[in-house]
Amino acid sequence: MSLFASLVTRAAPETVVAECRRCGTTVEPGTAVCATCGSEDIVRYTID
Ligand SMILES: [Zn+2]
Repeated sequence: MSLFASLVTRAAPETVVAECRRCGTTVEPGTAVCATCGSEDIVRYTID
């Protein structure tokens, strides 16, 4: 096992997925309003 591999694993950022609850469109995590339907009901999931 290389040192490089362990560093990459440790530094891996968590993945954030944001999705409109109204139409289901995946949007950027910082998005407040869905670009597709205009809903402000954005839900965020964090994936480890
Ligand atoms: Zn939407």
